[in-house]
Amino acid sequence: MVSRRELPDREHRVAALAAAGYNVFGLSASDVYIDLLTDSGTGSMSTDQWAALLGGDESYAGSESFERLERAVTDVLGFDQVVPAHQGRGAEHLLYGAIVDEGDAVPANTHFDTTRAHVAEAGGEAVDCPVAAAFDHDAEHPFGGNLDIEAARDHAEAVGTDRVPAVVVTVTNNSAGGQPVSVENLRRARELADDLDARLVVDGCRFAENAWFVCEREPGFEDATVAEVVREQLAVADAVVVSGKKDGLSNVGGFVAVADGEQGLFARLRERAILYEGFYTYGGMAGRDMAAMAVGLREAVEPSYLDHRVGQVQELADRLEARGVPVFQPVGGHAVYLDAGAALPHIPSEQFPGQVLVCAGYREGGVRAVELGTFAFPGTDRPDLVRLALPRRRYHREHIEHIAETFGEVLASREELTGLEIVEEPSREALRHFSATLQPLE
Ligand SMILES: *Cc1c(COP(=O)(O)O)cnc(C)c1O
Repeated sequence: MVSRRELPDREHRVAALAAAGYNVFGLSASDVYIDLLTDSGTGSMSTDQWAALLGGDESYAGSESFERLERAVTDVLGFDQVVPAHQGRGAEHLLYGAIVDEGDAVPANTHFDTTRAHVAEAGGEAVDCPVAAAFDHDAEHPFGGNLDIEAARDHAEAVGTDRVPAVVVTVTNNSAGGQPVSVENLRRARELADDLDARLVVDGCRFAENAWFVCEREPGFEDATVAEVVREQLAVADAVVVSGKKDGLSNVGGFVAVADGEQGLFARLRERAILYEGFYTYGGMAGRDMAAMAVGLREAVEPSYLDHRVGQVQELADRLEARGVPVFQPVGGHAVYLDAGAALPHIPSEQFPGQVLVCAGYREGGVRAVELGTFAFPGTDRPDLVRLALPRRRYHREHIEHIAETFGEVLASREELTGLEIVEEPSREALRHFSATLQPLE
């Protein structure tokens, strides 16, 4: 499908930004020209997905569409015990609520926000153990998303190994720039989980993008196909959680799948699905959405799609750098991260340079990005980054050029930009970047 978009004129953008309280979550999507807020559920479906959607079976129990989804998960990911959920966090709620108890600790390469929240909700502590390269600019680590195995082991031993129900590996590591994890690291995580008598859970939202990097970069996988690597990297897991909105190439949906030896866990997940999501053969999804996701999972491992997908992210990074915009390196699979601290050195961190850059990108070119720094993560020492997440199969080279040109223009007149201060924020500080309002400082 083609959606008609116009770039609203500058006067309109200036007014829309002020009305949204300098928080781009408050903008109407119709006022946005190129939307890089997230790559979650925002991609375009293929003709085959639309065709499958029209054949959706809406039976309450045992629908043909669910069986189609099960077959896709088995063929693509290698798991045949599948519990669907309305989206990734629904699947996380099923899984972590079933395996985490009060006082437990769950080490991970880095927990995604909703994973962290579900571990905490179940009474556990989510512990991040990324490798040192994850937030190091100059580290040319091919797998900057890896789990620091020894740090995870030390933490587990400190809390008591009987308090560690699972080791989690997120592929790719979304919260660390979308950087990949090697198969070798996943195998070592498996050994660690065995030593701790814990489960190995893979947060596989970007299972296909990760496998693409493995084929490109990991010794021993030069001749493997993405489809082969997807199965290889997941073969070590006891459970995998997937959001259909990422590498499911769908607009909604998700699932958790467990290994053959996990019949007991599978039964518990199905029970929890009935409580929280819907019957265990639809899990909050319409039959048609399961049918579309079944096709999407298969398309996600096609080489021509992935070459374009990851290549487009790299192309955006290259074009931005060519215009002097500071890009956080290395570039991951789904987004380009801008280093706002380096882009706007005259704006101190307390005045949210990342959010200033986000606002300037919208004002200059109608581009919507998201701040992931001091504004989104209060009280941490995260670098001030701005994420430009590319929706799957949606934009063309002309759009990429417009984005690069926009941020190039912003950088050229950066002296005019001033910091921001918060006017109103919600009671939960952790959620403030979604709804707080701000104003420019004089
Ligand atoms: C998006 C995401 C989730 C949650 O999935 P939703 O479909 O947004 O609920 C979990 N983990 C990772 C790594 C993600 O990127």
